[in-house]
Amino acid sequence: MENKLLYINIDGFSYSYLEQLRCQFPDGPFLKLTQKGKLYTNLRSGLVSITNPMQSAILCGAWSNQTHNFYQHYDWEGACVVKHRRTCDAENIAQLFLREGKTVASIHQFMLENNPCIEGDRVRAYIKCPQEKSNAFHRLAVLKDMILCKPVVSGDQTFIYEQFPDFVAVYIDDIDSLGHNNDYEKYPRRREFSQRQQDILERLNLIGQELLGILQCCEDTGLYEKLTILITTDHGMTPFWGQSRLPDIIRRLNQAGIATSLPEERTAHTRVVALPCAIELSLYCAPDITAAEKEIIEKVCREASYIERYFKKPEMQREYGFDPRGPEFLLSPEYGMHFYHRDIPEDTYAASHDSFDETSQHIFGMTLGCGVPADTVWEKKTAVVDLLPKITKERFGFILNPERQQK
Ligand SMILES: [Zn+2]
Repeated sequence: MENKLLYINIDGFSYSYLEQLRCQFPDGPFLKLTQKGKLYTNLRSGLVSITNPMQSAILCGAWSNQTHNFYQHYDWEGACVVKHRRTCDAENIAQLFLREGKTVASIHQFMLENNPCIEGDRVRAYIKCPQEKSNAFHRLAVLKDMILCKPVVSGDQTFIYEQFPDFVAVYIDDIDSLGHNNDYEKYPRRREFSQRQQDILERLNLIGQELLGILQCCEDTGLYEKLTILITTDHGMTPFWGQSRLPDIIRRLNQAGIATSLPEERTAHTRVVALPCAIELSLYCAPDITAAEKEIIEKVCREASYIERYFKKPEMQREYGFDPRGPEFLLSPEYGMHFYHRDIPEDTYAASHDSFDETSQHIFGMTLGCGVPADTVWEKKTAVVDLLPKITKERFGFILNPERQQK
């Protein structure tokens, strides 16, 4: 049997959760799981740390200058906000495997849906659970059926995989949904961040238990000897409370003489459009913005004490492979603060991950399986987008996005 690759993405798995698991459940399933492989202790998300951009970046081993997905941008000429949705313009790993004549399958990895995985196509199956709202347990059950050569439904077809596909992606979003403090299954929206943390740990313990069961199946069937497993995530999660700083920063910029407005309030005099997401704020400037005006904007950013860090366009392009259509400035507030379009009620909290805080940037990731030494750690700072290209190159001799690699 040839080498195979299993990639499981647990959306929104902040490394801070693993640290809490380590304190509260040192013998729990997730710690047991990490002992079976190599844990990345300094794995980083990217800019921007939002689901669709990061999911595509990881699958392509490329940043938004190649995938053309950084969630949304303001188009000054068209005077509109452009959402990037599932844009994924670079070659992704499933396309690479197909290019090499291999078989692939995606269980709910939505960025691969119709790109290239298709329902009912055995060589590149897209597989959805029958449940209306499926969770980690439903999706991992399908994976287990696949491993155990039990029937798996894709579209109107049913397949029995006597040979496990060469590349399988599984996407799980329980932890992200809980992290956002949504109502989720039996868990109501919480008033306190600490209560929600406990919900997350409880669910992670159960997911960890399922993953240990999957590993056992792989060992029992002999698949484990040829399988490389990557379990990682797209971003972490950062809580925020109370008043939004959005009105304040717009007021400060206007007072400094830079006419600033929200996209829908732009006038003929507007010099800067402020485009909020949840936590971070993007500033898009008029095409004829001057160096002096940009200097004033920076001064305002430096003086606003709630801004932890701001990025300028050249740095974003150089250090984070940012698409040139990106903002002139990206403002990331201090932990707990936000630029959301409304205030958060006093009796609860909100959470999201478009933040440069550690809780969003420092993320979970590990590899297991053949050739991966058990109970080891990789401490070097590593970008999550570099993991799949490295595995495909070293384990399979496949080069993802070859045009990019040659540069
Ligand atoms: Zn996500």
